[in-house]
Amino acid sequence: MKKYWLSIFQDVFIWQTKDTILVYNCKNKQSFSGPNRLVLKEYIDDLSNLDNLYTVDIEEEQLKELNLKNWIDKLVSTHSGELVEQQEGVLRPVSLYPYFKLQNDIEHIRWEHRLGIGGKIIQDLHEITVHVNGTDLGSELFSRQTIYPRPSSRIIDWEKLKNFLHNCRGGMLTKVSLVGDIMTYPHLNELISWLDDNQLEVSVYLLDSDLIRSMKDKEALKRGCETNVLCNNLSLLPQVSNYCKHNSLDFHILFPVTSEEEYEQISNVIEETKMRGYDLIPLFNGHNENFFQDYVFTSMDDIQEIDLSKREVFSHQAVNTNFFGKLTILPDGRVYANLNQLPIGTMNDPIYNLLYKEMDEGISWRMIRDQKPCSDCVYQWLCPSPSNYELVIGKSNLCHINP
Ligand code: SF4
Repeated sequence: MKKYWLSIFQDVFIWQTKDTILVYNCKNKQSFSGPNRLVLKEYIDDLSNLDNLYTVDIEEEQLKELNLKNWIDKLVSTHSGELVEQQEGVLRPVSLYPYFKLQNDIEHIRWEHRLGIGGKIIQDLHEITVHVNGTDLGSELFSRQTIYPRPSSRIIDWEKLKNFLHNCRGGMLTKVSLVGDIMTYPHLNELISWLDDNQLEVSVYLLDSDLIRSMKDKEALKRGCETNVLCNNLSLLPQVSNYCKHNSLDFHILFPVTSEEEYEQISNVIEETKMRGYDLIPLFNGHNENFFQDYVFTSMDDIQEIDLSKREVFSHQAVNTNFFGKLTILPDGRVYANLNQLPIGTMNDPIYNLLYKEMDEGISWRMIRDQKPCSDCVYQWLCPSPSNYELVIGKSNLCHINP
């Protein structure tokens, strides 16, 4: 009787739940799923044993089992694996089960911390958002979903901010976003110059009404920083556009959208003005969950469009790819890994302490889809990491497939 090796290629993930098996090939992005049957489960369990090098033995007789045979045919036709006859002179195929163990990384960080040599953690920080001040029309709720000005009477302390940012350099920090009624921030010119001098990419975020109100000649915004104008009032759009073009600003219009009606109004304006360089941002306002169900919730069509590399799948298993590496500072000096959680400290704290706290406790940066119902779902590691929308709405997922 002939014997074979079934070997799965190393760019292929196989996930199973009680009911379903999913095969996802990161190399050619092909995937297929089907019911989990006992005969398949046994092989998949063996394949996921690291010692087996993603290869198992199969006898000719076993291939008469139609479910197994069909599954293997699909693996072969999607270039996800191969069936090799065992013959003299033919070596057993060797492959590597795609496996990533974050716990080793976290334990390593804790071990370095105990030894007092944990400086490398700064490499994980790559983006800081600074709310330099507040504005009357800002929204605390929206700021917990996207970069959006907040109401606040505080103004960030320039010397402390400069000192904090100075201590954040030396790693992978590349981008700083400035948010608020920024044209009125008294140290705007110094701040942007300092960021320029330190080769940091700068973006500013402000409301359309604040831009219009402060339409003075602000040299600072001409120095190559990206200007993001949050457009809440479509009637201000021509003025905003003219101002930005007149001052040769690298500008981007962001349209907050909370309903289908708003979406249609904005779409009409975009079409009429043949606008380019804009984004629509869905925002939860406390009573528009239906709009989110229609436009934001994950559907099977979304899943079928997923196109992730192996590295990206590993990232989903290890960290929250929306939050990881990012900090936000409020005008009062408090520092957050995520505005939906408690602060991790203030600008007075050493940056290392803040980053270690976040990595150690893992509240935001390490928030992954390991909670029910996602932890019981076969798409667990293909779906995007949990977002701020989930945190603000208070659901563990926003999903039509397995709500
Ligand atoms: S239940 Fe979670 S993992 Fe599954 S499809 Fe929905 S959001 Fe994705």
